[in-house]
Amino acid sequence: MSAPDAPPVCRRAPATPPEVLLGAHVSTAGGTAEAPPRAKAIGATAMQIFSKQANRWAERECEGEECSAFADALAATEVRVTCAHDSYLINLASPDAAHRARSLDSFAAELRRCEALRLDYLVSHPGNFMDDRASGLARNAESIAAGLERVPGRTGLLMETTAGSGTALGSTFEEMAALIAAVPEQLRWRVGVCVDTAHVFAAGYDLASSYDDVWDRFGDAIGFDRLRVLHLNDAAAPLASNRDRHANVGEGLIGAKMSVFLAHDAFQGLPALLEVPGPDGHGPDAAELEKLRDLRRKGRRAAAARAARERNRSRRGSGHHS
Ligand SMILES: [Zn+2]
Ligand SMILES: [Zn+2]
Repeated sequence: MSAPDAPPVCRRAPATPPEVLLGAHVSTAGGTAEAPPRAKAIGATAMQIFSKQANRWAERECEGEECSAFADALAATEVRVTCAHDSYLINLASPDAAHRARSLDSFAAELRRCEALRLDYLVSHPGNFMDDRASGLARNAESIAAGLERVPGRTGLLMETTAGSGTALGSTFEEMAALIAAVPEQLRWRVGVCVDTAHVFAAGYDLASSYDDVWDRFGDAIGFDRLRVLHLNDAAAPLASNRDRHANVGEGLIGAKMSVFLAHDAFQGLPALLEVPGPDGHGPDAAELEKLRDLRRKGRRAAAARAARERNRSRRGSGHHS
């Protein structure tokens, strides 16, 4: 299924072939304007923040001086794509009307802060259906539409693939596609997808051994034109465990296969954000991002060598394609 109505990608006509825009989730301690210098300090070209305390209901607005201070701080960095991740308390699929209404208010406030800070994307988890999967999916799509209607603007909404713990929606590519398809067409162009490698692995997609197959399935079900952001986390919990546990890149169960991921043609030019503990538990540092650049280079070289072998084989007329 292709998605002809997907939001337009920010095309940047680079002079050199596009690279993965490597970055991380960074802290806003001290205020949102403190985040960009933290991204700069680790050499990030993409950045994710929380625009409020993610484990609290208390809302806030971003206004006036905060917005200009944030814009100034951002302009002094190499960051080209910005996202906020929404609150963990939001459940837009809840069967409880009061909880769903509260979640919708919170979701709309998240969107308003993104608009005020002129962030590119809001990353949001599909909800927990709790009673019945199909009804939960319908409620989730309805609430997404209500939020987008309430807050018109330029920030794209990215639904993040989940690990599928409990009654979490969106752990299969097909269900994610169904959720997006259930958003009314006039709003759907604002909706894209964020793929989290650790979640996908925990949901049962084996990135460590059937790599190409996983992405073929993603392309068939959702379409790469919907893919806007990658969460680059290694998996600390086993394949199909439905447990959301992040490991530092190279230290989890996806391991060295992350180089294939970083080198994948479909992901070049996209932001890839680390949400990992980092070497000392204080988040990823500059060395961690350098490690990723190195992994990507290795992956690209291996992919080029593989392509050259393929070409040679077909030139010899063996006709074998694996
Ligand atoms: Zn997330
Ligand atoms: Zn996670």
